[in-house]
Formats: sequence, C-alpha cells, structure tokens
Amino acid sequence: MEGLKKNQNDFRIRLDKIKESGYHLSCSRKKDWIEDVVKDIKNIKFTFVDDIRIQVEIFRMERDIFLRGLTTATIEMSCIRCLGNFNFPLKAEFRYTLSPSDDKALSPEMEINGEDLYLLYYQGDSIDIAPLIREQILLNIPSYPLCRESCKGICPQCGSNLNQNPCQCDKQEATVSKFEALKHFPVKH
Ligand SMILES: [Zn+2]
Ligand SMILES: [Zn+2]
Repeated sequence: MEGLKKNQNDFRIRLDKIKESGYHLSCSRKKDWIEDVVKDIKNIKFTFVDDIRIQVEIFRMERDIFLRGLTTATIEMSCIRCLGNFNFPLKAEFRYTLSPSDDKALSPEMEINGEDLYLLYYQGDSIDIAPLIREQILLNIPSYPLCRESCKGICPQCGSNLNQNPCQCDKQEATVSKFEALKHFPVKH
C-alpha cells in the first residue's frame, strides 16, 4: 500500500493547467504502478515485462474536457491452449469526455457515446486520469490469451505440446477430443 500512496496523485491534473494548446503528457511508469491494482481483478495470470508507456493529450472547451491517450506495455501471459508463456504487446487507445458533474442534468445528449468514446463526470477543479489509464490497460488484457491464433495446443492423449513436438497419437481421435474440450470454454462476445 505504501507504493500506491506515494503515486496516488501523480496523474491529477488541475484544470487551469490545460491551456488552449492543450496539455500533453508523455511518460512511463514502473510496472508496480499498476500490478498491485490489477492483479486480482482478472482471473488470469499475467506479469508486466517492462515499463508502461503513457501518452495523453487533454483539451478543454470551457468546462468540458477531452482526453485522448495511448498506453503500451508488454505483458507475459500463459496460453490457454498450450499453457506456454508468451509476450503479449498490449496497446490501449482511448478517448474520454469529462463533464462537470453539476452539468449532468443539463446535457442528456452527451450520454450518446461513440463506440470507443467514454463519457465521465468530474468534480472540483482537477481531474485524476490514473484510474482511466488503469481501466484501459485492464480492458485490453485478453481474457482468453493465445500464444498465436494457430496454436495447436496440447495433445489430449499424451500431453505433448503440439506446436513443438507433434506426436504420433491417433490424429482423428485427437481432433475430436480437442473439439470436445473447446465446448467447455466460454465464448467471448
Ligand atoms: Zn499456445
Ligand atoms: Zn499425443
């Protein structure tokens, strides 16, 4: 918790700092900036391999704030088919519109969101964008990680990793078993 406390306000931006030309932020954070926070949220194992790179542009129109960002990182994950570890290049591109919370009742049309545009409300004279960045990283971590689209998985009969060691087990039977196994995976929509 000590580390979290220390970093708590590092992405809090005062509105009067957002000039007409916008507010630009380009930085990186050590993996512990996020790891402690997201570790227990997803029911899958992953570790950040290196630093998290963050770029954010913020513009202001009166009291509405428009935020555009890009976050990249490399995470090590375990493939759900072959159980092998692999590096996943995480890339989160995002846009947020933030309106003052006291305007909420006045602008119902703002509720209509674009597909990748998020609308939020803020209070006071500053915004904390750390939760937004963390949320976007989390959203872009795959729930069903595959080391590659064509991963052949593990032979259900001999347990061999079929990407590395094609085995001599009955091919037809192995295929049937593979499809049987797939039935039990929840389908992501
Ligand atoms: Zn795999
Ligand atoms: Zn086999």
